Amino acid sequence: MSPFHYRDGVLHAERVPLPVIAASIGTPAYVYSTAAFRASARAFRAGLAPIARQHVAFAVKANPNLAILRLLAAEGYGADIVSHGEMLRALAAGIPPRAIVFSGVGKTDAEMIAALDAGVGQFNVEFEEEGVVLARLAAARGLRAVALLRVNPDIDAGTHAKISTGRRDNKFGVGLDDAPGIYARLARLDGLDLRGVAIHIGSQIADLAPLEAAISRVGTLIADLRAAGHRITHVDLGGGLGIPYRPDEIYPTAAAYGAMVARVTRDWDATLMFEPGRFVAGEAGVLLTEILWVKPGATHPYVIVDAAMNDLARPALYDAFHDFVAVEPNGRRIVANIAGPVCESGDTFAMGRAIDDVRRGDLAVFRTVGAYGATMASTYNCRPLIPEVLVDDDRFAVVADRISPQATLDVQPVPSWRRPTLSLSRQRR
Ligand code: PLP
Repeated sequence: MSPFHYRDGVLHAERVPLPVIAASIGTPAYVYSTAAFRASARAFRAGLAPIARQHVAFAVKANPNLAILRLLAAEGYGADIVSHGEMLRALAAGIPPRAIVFSGVGKTDAEMIAALDAGVGQFNVEFEEEGVVLARLAAARGLRAVALLRVNPDIDAGTHAKISTGRRDNKFGVGLDDAPGIYARLARLDGLDLRGVAIHIGSQIADLAPLEAAISRVGTLIADLRAAGHRITHVDLGGGLGIPYRPDEIYPTAAAYGAMVARVTRDWDATLMFEPGRFVAGEAGVLLTEILWVKPGATHPYVIVDAAMNDLARPALYDAFHDFVAVEPNGRRIVANIAGPVCESGDTFAMGRAIDDVRRGDLAVFRTVGAYGATMASTYNCRPLIPEVLVDDDRFAVVADRISPQATLDVQPVPSWRRPTLSLSRQRR
């Protein structure tokens, strides 16, 4: 049974009815299922079973909630991080530093130093100068930073342009033509222990073909690097495996992905590293929201919910689809637009969609928001950061507090020269 399912006409997360969470915590709120996280984390690892030497690092950016990271640490996941903040989360979750991979195109010197001092296991270096600086920082500490060179295989992942990362003109990695020269120069540096190459061609990839093409190109590159005398022991294949967002979509399974990778990399003789984010987290969360109003519209009524683009940015950012269902459906359907309270037309989750008939005061959820949901939230329109709740069987707990508008107001000191009395007296002069 799906961890989010109807029982007696009421949507539950595992054994907890969602109205109970709404009554206790309020809305909007992210609700995660422990069972769903475990199931997807295990499915991904099971899919990789044909691969002998492997390391799986959860892409923390997808869902950096501490309780979730602890859950994944217990499943044997390392962490793929892109900032000092994500490193702090991973370490706080008990992920061993050596199981952490530091990716990201804009690492600061301070972040690299903090990661070296923490004993982070691997740096995925984005370009030559970053590698040179990392080597210098490591050597100054008497260390050799374990590193892979991120290459850009120039493959169109067939995903949304804003989450495509492996095309030549994307900002990530070095071109395949330049890679051998850069690799040779970085391999000579004392402060680096260069062990191989990394790729990540994009997110929400619906088809294994671009992933296979990218991996094949990496295979050619590592053969060339080895022929040039380099020792290649590790290859990081990144994340990117997509998930269904619409009820009728079929996506490649982890088993199909693992079988493809095993086939293409059969002769590589290297430890393979993976950085799944969305696959592990996406389906494990819903965004619980209350219907504020049903407002007449020119073509269809607007269902105005209390969640908004600042809580769930994906529809506004990528025109992403999130299934929307009533928590206690009455069996009738309507065609409506779904929008939040933020003062932007972009704060619209759906236009002209057939949905459950909902009324003011009803509860509903947006599905498949466990990845790139809460982590992308902002306080736009001086709205709160909404709480996150973790369900485990028949119990639930708040795993991220609501950050109230008052709390964000309290961290905005006003300089003395901006005090109203002063400016008033200036005006009088
Ligand atoms: N690794 C890197 C370097 C990334 O930039 C990302 C996200 O774009 C991921 C892994 C995770 O990707 P996904 O959530 O699609 O698996």
